[in-house]
Amino acid sequence: MISALKGMKDIKDKDAFYYEKIVKICEEVAKNYGFSYINTPHLEFSKLFKRSVGESSDIVGKEMYEFIDKGQNEVSLRPEGTAGVVRAYIEAKFDKSSSLKRWFYHGSMFRYERPQKGRLREFHQFGVECFGEKSVYEDATLILMLVEIFNRLDINFNILLNSLGCVECLPQYRQKLIDFLDKDGFCDDCIRRKKLNPIRVLDCKNDNCQSLLVNMPIIRDNLCQNCKKEFELLQDILRQDNINFKLDDKLVRGLDYYSKSAFEFVSDEIGAKASIAGGGRYDRLIEYLGGKSGYGVGFAIGIERIIAILEQKEFEEKRNGIYLCALDEKYITKLLNIARILRKKHKVLLNYGPKKLAKHLANADNLNTEIFLCMGENEALQESLFYKNLNTKEEKMLKIYNLENSL
Ligand SMILES: [Zn+2]
Ligand SMILES: [Zn+2]
Repeated sequence: MISALKGMKDIKDKDAFYYEKIVKICEEVAKNYGFSYINTPHLEFSKLFKRSVGESSDIVGKEMYEFIDKGQNEVSLRPEGTAGVVRAYIEAKFDKSSSLKRWFYHGSMFRYERPQKGRLREFHQFGVECFGEKSVYEDATLILMLVEIFNRLDINFNILLNSLGCVECLPQYRQKLIDFLDKDGFCDDCIRRKKLNPIRVLDCKNDNCQSLLVNMPIIRDNLCQNCKKEFELLQDILRQDNINFKLDDKLVRGLDYYSKSAFEFVSDEIGAKASIAGGGRYDRLIEYLGGKSGYGVGFAIGIERIIAILEQKEFEEKRNGIYLCALDEKYITKLLNIARILRKKHKVLLNYGPKKLAKHLANADNLNTEIFLCMGENEALQESLFYKNLNTKEEKMLKIYNLENSL
């Protein structure tokens, strides 16, 4: 037997039901907010991710599916969605005219991590990116979209919010932080981060590191006037919509091109607070990837996490579709014609094998169908079908010529 690769999983049955539901809701909301679909390749030049996600990050350092293809190109399976979409924006020269583009995407991402519960090597995200919009109203709008999506999915969440400052104020804060971190006791990862990426020390999971961070300088106290004003406006917009949020000093995104708004949606529906979506502004990424400087803001939702939350709740798929069958195989050709007509409007499961009525009924029940239609000798003589509604248990004979109207 050939099995799937470690850390890779088939999405089928109950998972597939939820996967489709999540993507459908996300798509609907995104379209209503003026976003359109973009589908970028799974495979890109490795340097795209090295430059955007950053060589110092664990993702690029340890977790990328990176290889040399037959043309000697260094390529990687995408570990996240934003870099490819930014590359597409620049490649189409939209950056030159500072075009406003709102795109959404969904699909597989790949990280060569140690597989563990809730962490796969191929996982799925839904994300949106908006380019060319400077206004903080757009940041607020993305948060409102996530609220709408999680409300429609009936998932409880908390919103964490922070501002990471801009090119004006972030370097000064960074220096204050470096001075503060100049003491012993931090873990090895943090010692490395202190040099490469000091802000990343703030979200270290190590308890000892966290205790050393008491009294640390806080980004929000060090914002320039403009960043402060925009961050206050963002909070006002959310308050006006009665959206609760919590300010989180340690919500950071370690890379230089992230700026201003950062937000995260967490849910405690699967045990400890788990991140279910995250996003923020990344105005400098376009420039970082070789484009003309512009504006960018986006978010991504982890689909597997959402599936896990929804699966804990009661799974009850409504009965749907038609089960069409016969007691004798000589009627199957006739049924095939009937199915062809019904399938223009209805989902039809045509059973080709003749069986006793009770067997067919049990089958239809197992397949969770709603309508049962069967042809036996009596029905064939009368150009009819035996009808049973498996929800209401109603039974009757239906004339074939008028079938479409009677269903
Ligand atoms: Zn600033
Ligand atoms: Zn640490």
